[in-house]
Amino acid sequence: EFILEGKGLTQRYKTDTGCILTACRAVDVRLRKGETLGIVGESGCGKSTLLRILAQLERPAEGQLFFNGTEITFLKGESLRRHRCHIQMVFQDPAASFFPRMKAGEAITEPLRNFRRLSRQETRDKQDELLELVGLPKEYANRYPHSMSGGQRQRLGIARALALDPDILICDEATSALDVSVQRQIIELLADIQRQRGLSIIFVCHDLALVQLMAHRVMIMYLGGVVESLPGDQVWDQA
Ligand code: ADP
Ligand code: ADP
Repeated sequence: EFILEGKGLTQRYKTDTGCILTACRAVDVRLRKGETLGIVGESGCGKSTLLRILAQLERPAEGQLFFNGTEITFLKGESLRRHRCHIQMVFQDPAASFFPRMKAGEAITEPLRNFRRLSRQETRDKQDELLELVGLPKEYANRYPHSMSGGQRQRLGIARALALDPDILICDEATSALDVSVQRQIIELLADIQRQRGLSIIFVCHDLALVQLMAHRVMIMYLGGVVESLPGDQVWDQA
């Protein structure tokens, strides 16, 4: 019943001074299909480390990871590459991850060129569909991301993350660089897309009020561990 489940996830890094730092300690995390899980915690508490483990960008020192009940902790090579398409990420500043000379249309369809074999027309149709999904006019395909507003660039970031039809979207401080009114628009967009597509979302943010706008459940991290995991509507009772 969980699309993604982590058990006892632990990660350690060696610091510059040679000490061992536990960035993530025995974290249990569960995500249901169609659910939004919010993860909150101050800077340095291990949120990004946990996300990298969940997105299979790095392997935990200890613990297990399951996708739809199948253990995926030790996937490697081609099966790992393939698995990663199920889980896509949206970052704080998508412009930073788009090649500066790439037009918006190319930027959002790049994952398709890398991972799917589509005809020119199919790619074109998918491009139009993605732009429409995130509320941008088709003509924006020919514009450069750096000529767009922060909110529009984040819409592109979301379109690009959805190009491969992932099951899970991981948003790492995806609204943190935006104006408050734009943050809400992006959150509404994510909630809409989630309802339309039955997507599961992990939404990481240092702003509890914002997380609470869309999260069904909220996990609070502190010093690498989970201190609370509650339904979204009970967060304020505990605070
Ligand atoms: P958050 O995303 O909540 O700000 P991070 O996961 O980025 O937290 O960091 C958790 C801790 O792990 C921090 O003390 C950070 O300095 C450390 N850390 C993260 N990544 C590395 C790394 N690759 N090498 C060494 N230390 C790291
Ligand atoms: P296949 O026929 O093996 O499903 P394609 O021939 O369409 O894959 O794609 C060529 C290469 O692109 C594959 O060998 C693989 O490396 C990569 N690739 C294609 N689809 C995916 C995917 N969903 N996830 C990861 N890699 C993929």
